[in-house]
Parts: sequence; C-alpha cells; structure tokens
Amino acid sequence: MIAKVIVDVPSRQTDRPFDYEVPKDMQGWLEVGSRVGVPFGGRVVQGFVVAVAETAAVDSKKLKAVAELLDHTPPLSPDLIQLAEWISDKYCCPLTIALQAMIPAALKGKAETTVTLADDSRTVFIESSEWAEYMRRSGGSVKLSALQEKFPLSANEVKAAIREGALLERVAIRDRLSVKKMLTVFPPGDRNEALEALAGLPARAAKQREVLRYMIDHEQPITMQELVDLLQTTSGTVRALAEKGFVVIREVEMDRDPYAGREFQRTAPLPLTDEQKAVFAPIAEAIDNRDSRVFLLHGVTGSGKTEVYLQTIEHCLQLHKQAIVLVPEIALTPQMVERFKGRFGDAVAVLHSRLSNGERYDEWRKIRERRARVAVGARSAIFAPFDRLGLIIIDEEHESSYKQEESPKYHARDVAVQRARQHGAAVVLGSATPSLESYAAASRGGQAAELAGRGSALLPMPVRVGGRPMPPVHLVDMREELKNGNRSMFSRQLHQSLASRLERGEQSVLLLNRRGYSTFVMCRSCGYTAQCPHCDISLTYHQKARTLRCHYCGHAEITPTVCPSCESEHIRFFGTGTQRVEEELSKLFPGIRVIRMDVDTTTEKGSHEKWLTMFGERQADVLLGTQMVAKGLDFPYVTLVGVIAADTSLHLPDFRAAEKTFQLLTQVAGRAGRHELPGEVVIQSYNPEHYAIQTAQQHHYAAFIQEELRHRRYMSYPPYCRLILVTLSHEQLPLVIAEGEKLAGLLRQAVSEAGLSASSEEGTTSRFMDILGPVASPIPRMKDRYRFQCMIKYRGNVDAVGMLKRSVRSLAGSNGQHQVQIGIDVDPQVIL
Ligand code: ADP
Ligand code: ZN
Ligand code: ZN
Repeated sequence: MIAKVIVDVPSRQTDRPFDYEVPKDMQGWLEVGSRVGVPFGGRVVQGFVVAVAETAAVDSKKLKAVAELLDHTPPLSPDLIQLAEWISDKYCCPLTIALQAMIPAALKGKAETTVTLADDSRTVFIESSEWAEYMRRSGGSVKLSALQEKFPLSANEVKAAIREGALLERVAIRDRLSVKKMLTVFPPGDRNEALEALAGLPARAAKQREVLRYMIDHEQPITMQELVDLLQTTSGTVRALAEKGFVVIREVEMDRDPYAGREFQRTAPLPLTDEQKAVFAPIAEAIDNRDSRVFLLHGVTGSGKTEVYLQTIEHCLQLHKQAIVLVPEIALTPQMVERFKGRFGDAVAVLHSRLSNGERYDEWRKIRERRARVAVGARSAIFAPFDRLGLIIIDEEHESSYKQEESPKYHARDVAVQRARQHGAAVVLGSATPSLESYAAASRGGQAAELAGRGSALLPMPVRVGGRPMPPVHLVDMREELKNGNRSMFSRQLHQSLASRLERGEQSVLLLNRRGYSTFVMCRSCGYTAQCPHCDISLTYHQKARTLRCHYCGHAEITPTVCPSCESEHIRFFGTGTQRVEEELSKLFPGIRVIRMDVDTTTEKGSHEKWLTMFGERQADVLLGTQMVAKGLDFPYVTLVGVIAADTSLHLPDFRAAEKTFQLLTQVAGRAGRHELPGEVVIQSYNPEHYAIQTAQQHHYAAFIQEELRHRRYMSYPPYCRLILVTLSHEQLPLVIAEGEKLAGLLRQAVSEAGLSASSEEGTTSRFMDILGPVASPIPRMKDRYRFQCMIKYRGNVDAVGMLKRSVRSLAGSNGQHQVQIGIDVDPQVIL
C-alpha cells in the first residue's frame, strides 16, 4: 500500500504529492484525509494523505515509509481534500496551505523525539552513565528533550549512542494540545453499601461524612473543583474517601464549551409573514431536491432575514441534513449566537476567532462526531467537517472579511458555492446591501451577470416586518455648520437629537466611520478631496514626504496648503479618534454615560460581549464606536443613530470606497427603531451630494447600484472585470523592480500571444486582459522588504490564473527558485 502525501513544506517546489510506503500495522487505519508524520529532507514533517494506491510512481523499493499515523480518525474527509485542491488551484497557493486552513490550530503538530535503549548486548558501553541509569529507571524510553534538559553535559555521549545504535530514535509529531481533562468524583456504585460505610465513619471525620452524604444523595459525577467549592472542603478529604473505596476519582475528558453555564431561552418558530413565506419556499425546495442553487436574499434591515435563516435550517435538520451559517467576525456577538442557540440548543457549534485553540478544537470535534448539526461561525467555519450538508447561509454577504487576507487568500462566498456543489446543498447569501458582484450575478439576463459567470436567484424582501417604517435620515452639511461658526464635531441637529434622547432616557449609537489608518486630504470649506488624475481614486497622504500618492498607478504630488478648488486654507488631512469624540461628548453633556468600542477597548477576550451586554441593560446612554457598532445589533431602546463623518471611508484609495460607504451607512441606520419606538438617523457629511450618501439617506439601494455599476463599467472594475494582484518583494529594491518588469513583460507577451485585447473600451469588449504596473505597493516597504505590484484585469473566457502561473514559472531561475518572493491575490478585496 502506497500513500500519496502532501508534506507541510509550503513552497512551489514541494507542492505535489510524495509517495510513501504504508507499514503493515498502519494499513487498517490509514485513509485519505489521515494526518501522518513522514521523513522528508532529513527530518520528520507532518503531511496529509491525499490518495492511496497499490503501486508507486517510482521503484517502490526505494520508498521511505510513513513514520507515524497522527490520528485514528482522519481529520479531513475526501470531499474536503477535493475542496482544498480547488482552492489551491483557484487562488494559486500550495495545497498544504489550503489543507492546513481546514483543521483547527490545535492539530498543527510539532515534532518530538523519543529515544529507547536498544538490546542489552549493545548497551554495555553506556552502562555506567547517569543518563542511561535514568532511562532504565524510566522504563527504557524517554523524550530526547528530557535527556537534554537533565544531562546537558552528556550531549556527545547521547549522540554517540544514537550513532552506534545503542539508543533508538523515534520522531513523532505531537499536537499542540490534547483534550482538556478534569478530575471528577463518581458516586459510590452501591447505595446500600455506601450508607453502611457512612454509618461506619467515625464522628471526627465530619467532613468525610458530609462529602459521602452528598455523593449518596446526588448520585451524579461532579468535578473535584465544584465539590470542594460547594462543600467548603479539601481535595484531601475526597481522596481519603476514595482510598477507602467509597467514591471513585478519575480524569474525565471535558468539552471546553465557551457557552457552558449560559442559559439560552428556547424560542419557537414565528409564523412567517407572506414575504418570508415567498422566499422560504424556493430555498426549501432546493434543499429537498439536493439542488445546489445560490439565492441572494436581499432584505432591508429588519425585514426578518434571520427568521428565514432559522426556519430553512429547521427544514434542513428535519431532513437529517446539516447547515453552516457564516456571519462576519465582528457580528458574532452574543446576540447573534443567542438567536441560533435559542432555536437549536446544543445542536449548534460556534466557531469564532476569540475562542482559545482548545475551545475551537472542541467545537470542531462536536461537529465531526455529529453531536452538532449547525455550525455558526466566521469565515473558516465554511470548512466545518460535516458530511451531509443541506444548506449554507452567508449573512451580510457583502462583508469584505469573508475574504482571507493571508494565504490561502480564499473568499468564503466562492468556497461556499463550491462546497455546496459537492453536497447538493443550497446557498443563501443574505444582505440589505448586496455586493455588486453578487447583485450582478443575481440580476437575470444582465451583462454583468454573464460576466460574473455565475447565475443565482434574487429573493427580495423590501419592507420591514410588521410594516415598521425605515427610520428617517437627516443629512447635515458640515460645510454649512462651519460657515455658521460651529467648529464642533457635532452639528446642531445631532446635538439636539442627542439631548432629547438623554431627556427621554432612550439610547443612541454613534458611529465614527474610520476604516484602516489611511488618511486623505480634504477641504473643510468646500469638501474638495485630492484625486488621482489617472485613476479616479483619492490620493493618500504620506506624512513623511508630505506628498499625496496614488496607490494604483504611483502618481505623486505635493500636498496643497490652500484648496485648489476654493482657495480656502481649511484644507488638511483627516482622521478623528473615538477618544476625542468621547471627550467632547462629556464636555457637551456632563454626566453622560458612554461606552466606547474600538480596537483599544475590545482587545481583551470577552470585552466585546461585556460592553454590549452593559449597553443592552441600559447602563449607558451612548454606544460610541467604529465599524463594530454598525453590525447586527438589535436593541429596542436605540432610537437615534448618529454618523460623525460619513466621508472618511468615501475617499479611501479603493474602487470599492463608495460601495463600502453606502453599505456602512445603510447598516448603521438599520440599528435605529427596530422595535416599537420609532427611530431617527443623523448623518454628518462634507459631501452630502455624493450619490453614495444621497442614496443611503433615501434607503434606495437600487438607485445606488445603478450609479455605481455605471462607474465600474466606465472604469472597468469588478463586476465588469476580474482582478488579480501580484506582489513581489525582496530586501533589494533594484531586484524587485527588475523582476517586476520581467514578470509584467512575460504577462504582456502571453496576452498578445493569446490574441487578447488589452483594453476594455468602457466595459464593452467581451474578452480582454490588461497588465498594470509594476508600481510600488501601497505599503512600499514591509519588514525591511521592498514591495512592488502588478494588477491583472481580465474578463470573459480567459485563463488568467493559468497564464500567470506559467509566467511566474518562467521567471524562476534554472534551479526552479525565485529571486524575489511572489504573492498572488486572486479577486482581491483590499487593495490599500
Ligand atoms: P434582519 O435580520 O432582516 O435585519 P431580523 O430577523 O432581525 O431582521 O428581524 C427584525 C425583527 O422582526 C426582529 O425583532 C424579529 O424578531 C422580528 N420578526 C422577524 N420575523 C417575524 C415574524 N414572522 N413575525 C413577527 N416578528 C418577526
Ligand atoms: Zn475648498
Ligand atoms: Zn493613479
């Protein structure tokens, strides 16, 4: 039996399966998906079995053998391996990186060497040494690291013994952690005997009597810790009872359930509204028919999308199938988790990044062992090891956090569609503000849908449950405020609205729109922002050189000191901190209770939850924060939402800036007036005439999308084309530039050889491929490496990934190695 193994050595040269012989005793256990330790390049490395075969490609006598089988249940299934192959291919990453992304971090092992004394005949010459004596006392086998630690001076002796074969070496890969074990006390087996024993205990052993009494009465195992705490005794007392055989103490494997001890109030399904029924039916039908269709559920905030999710999952469970629900990390609040736990109880496993490795591993095991049937989690939950998937839901599908920024740079939405195909599962993409890509794919017959290459069905829910009105949105022109002498960051309108909320004891959410750390220059008098003349994108302010730069084409200019448009001197770079807003709030409203949520106040584990719980209990008047206050919150007493500066994300050097701004404003506005109390929204802006802000004010998605699609088409950006970002880096600048030029040259040659047009002519040509760059990356030096990038734009039936792979290969030297590091991002989300 031969195992084909992908070794955990992530490089382009080792990115293929290697053959290993499977020892007889492993043959019954080893399967496709098994994790193994194999000898590779003089050491033992971890790997995954991706196939088994009867014969090897090369002479099998020369084959090395699998050194160790790491799990008795394979952590990966054949369908996940297939999915990893798809990811590796589509996103140009080594297969091992895709495979590693699918298993919990706890299973990423490290090598550990054990040594064993050989037969007596050979141990003669080490007889007298201390370390050999120690080994004999330990039963003949110890970890090499233990010998190293205890007998540092005997290193040479030990090494010689290994060389001579007197010590046998065995390398194993140990998991970073094992299951958590807890000392647990078990009640006596025979009640009558125990009662007799109790009577026989002397009166002075009062504590022992009390413990035994408790164990007899409760008849349930209890952890040592709990028992000791409960009865105010010591573990010594319990051990004394165990020694007499009255109770049993054993280590028991525990699940580290992060939600242990939390009561989730069970909820019953609500009778669906007519709108909800209309979208439920086709989804249920697809699940019934094992039809891997993709639905875009476009429902305004408060339209009851979550109830639709819950009931389609219920439908799925009735058919004995499983479901995955992806939510953005930032929205994985207790509120969201509660809604799923409340409906499905223990059948829900929750996976998010704030779990410890151990907690994550336990949730993952719950899924694999079929104790959980619904997985709710962030991006990587798409790899939940289910075997009968019926439904995948992606809530807030437009969120850029579904794209992983490090390798494998996959988009969970695309992976979901692929995984659903394997299982015959339905996919539901839900959002109040669908991404342009998804919207284009779902709007039937549109040119964009064709270009995006995937059709899906649009399911609209245009009104709120119970016909509740969308909150009115007041747009405040901050230029006017300045003209009228108000230099505060609060407009008179927002100030007044806040005051009346305080008076009425209602709550407010304040958003400081600040994405990333990029700063731009804006005129406070007229709203002018500096744009790149070639790219239609805001220039970024570089403090060091005091210049403005374009991150796409490299254009640079001197920062103006007066506004080129109105000649005002109120032109400066922009960026306001949450802390400053908080200070100003306290000045304006003495005694105001503010909860501030930003990266500073939410680094501690559980702090996010703590703040939201406090706000939910009305311990604060204002919840102030960055993007994290915009998503998925549902508080009945929130009647005012204020946006301090809507423009900050509008001028980021990113072609998605308008889309992101519209989405954010719509999301945060949706937090107001979701229940009985009517809500109100105040948006402050220096560019109130911008279409992203205008359409957000009107809750008019269709109008926004129309205008935005027009721009994208004109500039030839997704969804009218696709992008691949290639980044080259090295310590030496000239080398990066030279290799960048070479790569761009190879690509351009490939484009012309394929007879492709290099220009898109305003999005009308059906096939094209264009190579932009190389230019310095937005972050031109990182960790002492210079970075340059090329952008590939393409459309239609073009194998751009294949062409790129071939070009990258021919860039390599004769030894197959590259002089510079090359990173590839297919369908990049963040271009900053
Ligand atoms: P969305 O996820 O679309 O923003 P939610 O699912 O949070 O909307 O629903 C908004 C509100 O409407 C919630 O308070 C929810 O409990 C309520 N709701 C949803 N569906 C129904 C229904 N069928 N009947 C009554 N109330 C509902
Ligand atoms: Zn100006
Ligand atoms: Zn430019």
